[in-house]
This record gives sequence, structure tokens and C-alpha cells, in this order.
Amino acid sequence: MSRIALLPETVACQVAAGEVVERPASVVKELVENSIDAESTRIEVLVRKGGNSSIRIVDNGMGMDRDDALLCLERHATSKIRTGDDLMAIHTLGFRGEALPSIASVSRFRLATRERGALAGTEVIVNGGKLDSVRDCGEPEGTQIEVRSLFYNLPARRKFLRTENTEASHVEHVLHLQAIGHPHIGFTFLNDERLVYQLPPGQSLRERIHDLTGAALVAELLEVPDEEVGGIRVRGFVGKAGVSRSTRQQQIVFLNGRPVENAALNYGLREGYHTALMKGQHPVTFLFIDLDPAAVDVNVHPAKREVRFRDPMLVREVLVDIIRRTLETDRATWTRTFAAPSAAPAATPAAETPLLIPMAEQTALRRDWAELPRQPERAPSGRLASFPPAVPARPDASPATRFTPEAETASPFELPPAPPPPRSQESGVSGQPSAINNQQPSGAKQTAEGSPQGERGGASQFRLLGILGKLYILMENAAGLVLVDQHAAHERILYEEMKRRMESQSVPSQRLLLPITLQVPPRDADWMMQHLEVFSRAGIGLEPFGAGTFKIDALPQFLRADDPPQLLRDIIDELRETSTQTSKLRLGEDMIAKTVCRHAVKANDVLREPECVKLIQDLLACELPYCCPHGRPTMIQMSYGELEKKFGRKV
Ligand code: ADP
Ligand code: MG
Repeated sequence: MSRIALLPETVACQVAAGEVVERPASVVKELVENSIDAESTRIEVLVRKGGNSSIRIVDNGMGMDRDDALLCLERHATSKIRTGDDLMAIHTLGFRGEALPSIASVSRFRLATRERGALAGTEVIVNGGKLDSVRDCGEPEGTQIEVRSLFYNLPARRKFLRTENTEASHVEHVLHLQAIGHPHIGFTFLNDERLVYQLPPGQSLRERIHDLTGAALVAELLEVPDEEVGGIRVRGFVGKAGVSRSTRQQQIVFLNGRPVENAALNYGLREGYHTALMKGQHPVTFLFIDLDPAAVDVNVHPAKREVRFRDPMLVREVLVDIIRRTLETDRATWTRTFAAPSAAPAATPAAETPLLIPMAEQTALRRDWAELPRQPERAPSGRLASFPPAVPARPDASPATRFTPEAETASPFELPPAPPPPRSQESGVSGQPSAINNQQPSGAKQTAEGSPQGERGGASQFRLLGILGKLYILMENAAGLVLVDQHAAHERILYEEMKRRMESQSVPSQRLLLPITLQVPPRDADWMMQHLEVFSRAGIGLEPFGAGTFKIDALPQFLRADDPPQLLRDIIDELRETSTQTSKLRLGEDMIAKTVCRHAVKANDVLREPECVKLIQDLLACELPYCCPHGRPTMIQMSYGELEKKFGRKV
């Protein structure tokens, strides 16, 4: 007896629904996508009891005639593709011809639609996949779909529905994505008759993000330069360095208009942010990537959430590069704002400003932190192509503000005289965060020349106030109070310097008198063997010493690590999280540098004024000054406005 039978159509639809319709939010997603494909300019979504009770979508799109209204409920009925070849280049959100029949097979379903310009519309009612009635109706142009009692005929699945609130929040998220993805379409969302939002059509992306997420987030976003590289166009907004979330909810990426999740994209974002992101945190992005539909397969997931790229590496690289450059653009603006001349000190002639430390002592300026020995010549730039070379970009910036060998004209313990501050740069030309570098060294100048009569008054752009709790440097700038975390700042400076050294040649190391042995599990041992060279460039002398054992015989010179084996274990832990899919070498270097730097700045040294000034200058000369290599902020600005609020002067 034969055991195989063709499933009845309704059952087949229910099987398909298992993949497409998981919960009310998936219904909303499919129906809204259909409305978008139908060229609607307004879409209204209404849910009751989180969608468990009913979901209604009304659009003003092209509508359907009676034949189509019936046909659209058949499986594999679609107006969006015709041939197999069309699958290779999909321009619409839908194409599987599965959503409507699937949804109709697991709910009480009503479709009312009227083609543009048609005299009458059509109403179709289907219950649990069975056609109930078809008749003319007088609905306005466009399409309305109502889905009630989802899974009423599949009690087992209905049990999987969560509370109304949970389902409602999933619906909201789906709509949020669609609304961000299509700012030109007006969206209205009602939850149990309560108007959640009403977004007008024809908005710009910025306006849409603003309306959905508020002004506070918009202020933290940077616009990505709208560019096309290698056939991949990227545009949108991303969070500034240091802006992050503990979930991926706000890491939104659209691929050809479709919100997607994809490993290559995730890695690209993570790598693009690299040190600008705290561990375990995710960036905030509203990114739109457009590429030739033939270069991406969207038919790998029934709900089309996932995609497969023909060349994931290329997509990732483009993303990394764009993110890095976008974060970089912020540096200029940030540095300029930070260094804007302070209004308040004008009242006090600056020369009379009491200094933290008597001038005489400043000549004994030490540069103990981050002291790296001289190199005869700076090796040719081996920097990542995406970053403009930091030093040559500001050839006439004060050499005193860097650890660069060029700076070391005098004794390594003394700052060389700074060049006279070029007046033309006082305004802090955009793209050239030079104000502070060129102006502030007056402090250093006084030091080097032993002349307290410098032009501190006119030149200083921020003013040191003191040090709090041996850790926070307090400063004043035009906007108000600035707090700098000395450690975080130091770590950032060290990290960038170390990266530069690693890229050019290697970080100078110091041999240990007594080598230390370290035992690691076999998997980690493999990994370390592959990276011996990177370790060596980082100034860490590592030698295999029998099964799973390594000998550490040198460490970076500036390192004050009290526990070298722990340092290595930390490095291994960090690297284990580095996926094989990211560009291993580059991330490996980053991680090692990051970890070494964390170990390097442990001691709570009290900095003296010139050291503070130097720290700030060096920090501002960094590529990403506003956060430490682990993504924590280095500086916090407390504006006069905030202070006034706190003191109740302003409400
Ligand atoms: P797909 O979207 O994959 O084509 P669906 O089952 O979602 O499959 O829809 C089937 C067809 O019904 C669509 O191809 C489209 O022609 C038509 N359709 C669905 N929703 C609408 C709508 N809101 N307005 C106009 N036509 C629609
Ligand atoms: Mg569809």
C-alpha cells in the first residue's frame, strides 16, 4: 500500500504558515511589505490585544481587481516575479507568493480591495483557509486586510503566543523598521484604539528617525557620506563613537530597502567601530546599503530576514571603511567644540591665573607615562587605507603634542619649543582639529623657554582647573565643565601609539630577567602559535616551550603589568571572541594593543599641570579622542545649561 499522499491545499498552506507566520508581528510584516510593494503612500496599522485578537492594515496603494483578489490567496500566486531568472534580481519586498494564503489559512481573514479608478471594490472572506464569500464592496481605493483570531484553528500554535504586551512590542518593532526604511511613506499605528504614532508621508530619513526615536538620539548620530564603492552604495546615520546599546535592537541595516540580519554586516559594523564600542555593546545604526540585486540572495529565509551575499568580504570591507571614516569626521567637529575659547576666563587676565604648579617646576617636565624610546626614522606608513595618516595631515602641528620621533629634538625628557601658534588656524578650520594643538602648546612653550609671560591669555582654548580624586582632570571650556578620565585618556593615547608602532615596525620591548612560563589549553596554544609574529610586534616575546606551554621572555617597555601571565590570558580571552570571519590579523593586532594598554595604565599617578596639558594635547591628537580603546568615554562635557538645570537656575 502506498504511504505517500499529496497534502490538501489548506494543510499545505498551514505548513507554509509555520515558516512565514510565527506571531502577529510576522503578519504585520508581510502585510505592510505588500502595501509598500503596492506603492502606497499611507499605511495604517491597527492591532487589538497585541494582534492576538485582530490586525488590520489599510493602504492607499494600487489595489486589486476581482480576479487578482481571488488569485492572491492561492499559493505561489504573485505579481512580482514571473520566471526563475527574476529570482536573481528581486526589486520588491515580496516575491514568494506565500504570505496571503498562509495567513488566511490560520485566521479569520477579510480582504477588501479596490483598484485605482475602479467603480467598485471586492471583498473576500476566508476562514481557516476556506473561501467563505466574495462580493462587491464600496471600500475606498487601496487595500484593507483584517486578520482576526490568529491560529484559532491551530490551538497548539495559539498556545505559543505570548502576552498582549509582548506581541504588541514585536509588532511595534516590525513597524519601526518599516517606518525607518520608508520615510517617504506615512505610517499610522494604533494599538487598542490608542494612537501610538502618526508619521506624515514625505519625510527625510533624519525627520523620520527624529519622530520615532526623539531628538536626543538624533543628536548622537553622524550622517554617513552617501557614497558608492565597488557597486555598493551606503548611506544613512550611525551613532557617534561611544554611543552604544546592550542589544541589537537599534542596529538597523537595510539592504535594498529590506531590514536584514547578516553576519558579514554585523562583523563589518563591529570592526568599523572597533575601539569605539564597549565590550558586549552594539552600535546604533540606521544604514541603507544598496547593491545590485543580483549580488545578493534574499531567498534564504522564509521571512526574508536573512540574506546571503555573493561577496560578503567586499560588503564587510566597504562597511568597515565607511564607518571608520564617518567616526573620523566627527573628530574635527568634536575637537573644535571642545577647544572653543572659554568665555569665562576673559574676566580674569590669564597671565594672573594661578597655576597649579609653580612655573619653575614645570621645566622639570617629565614624560614618564607612555615613554617610548626614539626610533631613528618613522617607517613608511603602513596604516589602514581608511584612515588619513594622522601626522602628515597636520605637518605643522606642534611636535610637542605627539610621541613621534620627530618631536624629540632635545633630550627625551624635555619638550622642544613649540612653533609660534599660526594665527590663521585659530578659528579651527573644519577638518583640521588643530586649534588646540596649535594654540595650547603655549603652556609647553613657556616651559621650554622658561618664560611664563607667554601668550597664555589669548591662546589657551581650555583651562585646567585641577584634578579630582587623583583621576579626573577638571577643565573649563567655552561650553562649561569638562572632566577627563586620566586613565581612559592615557589608554587611548598609548593604544594609538602602539598601533602605529606595530604597523611600522614593532613596539620596543624589554627582556625579563626571569622568563615566565604559561600553560594554556591546546586550542589557545594553536591560536598563539599562529600569532607569534603579532605578539612580537606588540613587544611581547613569546616562545613555544613544549606542549601547551609558552615562555614569556620580553614585554613592552612601557608596560607596568604586574602579572604578565594574566595579561596573556586576557589577550587570549579577547581573541577567542574574535570570530574567524573577521579579518583576523587586523583585529588580532587591535585586541593585543587594547589589552596591553589596559594593563599598562593601572597606577594612580598624580599628574602635574604640564603633564595634564600634554595628556590633553596628545588625546586631542588621537584619531578617536573621545573614547578609550574599550569604548568608554575619555571625556565628559557638562555644559553650563546642564549646570544651570542642576542648580535650579533654569527649568
Ligand atoms: P508576494 O508578496 O510574495 O507576491 P503575497 O502572498 O504576499 O505574495 O501576495 C500575493 C500578491 O497579492 C502580490 O504579489 C500582490 O500582487 C497582491 N497583493 C498583496 N497585497 C496587496 C496590497 N496591499 N495591494 C495590492 N496588491 C497586493
Ligand atoms: Mg508579500
